[in-house]
Amino acid sequence: MNFNELNLRNEILRAVSEMGYEEATDIQGGSIPSILEGKDVTGRSSTGTGKTAAFGIPIVQRTADNTDRASVLILSPTRELAVQISDEIRKYAKYLSGISVATIYGGQPMQGQIQALRTARIVVGTPGRVMDHLRRKTLKLDNLQTIVLDEADEMLNMGFIDDIRTILESAPEEHQTVLFSATLSPEIMRITNDFQTDTVLVKADKGQRTVANIDQSYYNIPKDSKNDALKLLLEYHKPKRALIFCNTKKMVDDLAEILCEDGFKAAGLHGDLKQNQRNIVMRDFKSGRANILVATDVAARGIDVDDVEAVFNYDIPQENEYYIHRIGRTGRAGKTGASYTLVANRKQLYRLHEIERHIGAPITEKEIPSVKTIVAQGNDEFAASIRRAISHGVDDNWKLLIAELMTEGYEAEDIAAALCEKLQKKNKKLAAVKDVESIKTFKDDRKFGKKKPYKSGGREFRGKWDHDRKDSRDFKKKPYKAKKKEY
Ligand code: ADP
Ligand code: MG
Repeated sequence: MNFNELNLRNEILRAVSEMGYEEATDIQGGSIPSILEGKDVTGRSSTGTGKTAAFGIPIVQRTADNTDRASVLILSPTRELAVQISDEIRKYAKYLSGISVATIYGGQPMQGQIQALRTARIVVGTPGRVMDHLRRKTLKLDNLQTIVLDEADEMLNMGFIDDIRTILESAPEEHQTVLFSATLSPEIMRITNDFQTDTVLVKADKGQRTVANIDQSYYNIPKDSKNDALKLLLEYHKPKRALIFCNTKKMVDDLAEILCEDGFKAAGLHGDLKQNQRNIVMRDFKSGRANILVATDVAARGIDVDDVEAVFNYDIPQENEYYIHRIGRTGRAGKTGASYTLVANRKQLYRLHEIERHIGAPITEKEIPSVKTIVAQGNDEFAASIRRAISHGVDDNWKLLIAELMTEGYEAEDIAAALCEKLQKKNKKLAAVKDVESIKTFKDDRKFGKKKPYKSGGREFRGKWDHDRKDSRDFKKKPYKAKKKEY
């Protein structure tokens, strides 16, 4: 649906089109008209389908003519997401004046927030900090026109249910309640029933749990080879931006350090970091200074950074829903993405199958590319760059230099090889990495169809590097040895 059909003000249409949005997504087309009319809306659609704009755009339109303080309250599960929502709203409101936004979350001094709350028409905050301000009366809900619960399933997962109910109960009788979520659990529907009247239910997905444009694979590997496997995958796919999930804060710290030591540009994000450290990490990740973000589930909730090409599950997620949220960080706004899950014992393999059943889609088993394959890939790219340089024409002065060396008796081939050696830097990142042999799994107990053997992303390796690729295709059988519990 085109945004023009949604009865939006020109100022908003202009801002939205400058943001590069052409068509409204299903959830946006389905909810914007009802939210504009002031109805109570509950919307469900998978991650990355534009739920922020689905409520953000109509809210900006409604606050354009309403100069009341705090007429809109948006609750968000995390600080990062609250900041992101505020930023988005400011963008939609770029050509409208007076729409001030206050972002309130924990871990930051109250004073600045109190200042911002004095003028803000729209308040975006985490439930805990919103409660704080309500108690101190630095935030009053007397003028409340709309309350939004964004990523409601996340807020419930994080244990905010009591806070949310308290906040909803303290709101004045007459107001609009809007709720968005990637999933609608019975618990969420209870909130809907208790706090909404004549709910407009918008389900913009057809029960689809993951976004179809994410290529999902997993690797069954020995337990002590996770670090090597991860580095090999990173070097093979070279994602422009990647998110790596671990289950514990300690693992996040350790892994970020290990990756940095080997020359990867990694940074860690988890709840124990101070707010300003978290801000720095997010800024570096957005700017590309660190292109690999290692994070816990909680810290990465709702994060929307453009062009995350790959999500790695270094640890298999503890909850099925986490998997959906994790991989939903890639393949956003119709782009393609990939997810790679490391499975390092039988219990984890079982968990993987559970996740597969939960999402109702296959996760393809693959093998970790070998060091040789990656070196061959690098050489292949290097050879291609030489071919390109020759076809673009080479400076004659260099040819004179070569001719001079040849008159001294050096062979052309030796000269060229020496130059290659000087140019092609040794891959420090894989210096200490050993090949990772996959563990063969039995397909019989799997619900989904046959898995294809590992293919090197459809690349063609020609000439003398070809033998290297065969190694990686050989599927070596290795009996599975039951290991002691790892948890
Ligand atoms: P969700 O909350 O559903 O997970 P977000 O609101 O975070 O999704 O949006 C995901 C990404 O899609 C963001 O980068 C956002 O800017 C972009 N986006 C949202 N709506 C549109 C649209 N209509 N056209 C293009 N991109 C969009
Ligand atoms: Mg969202």
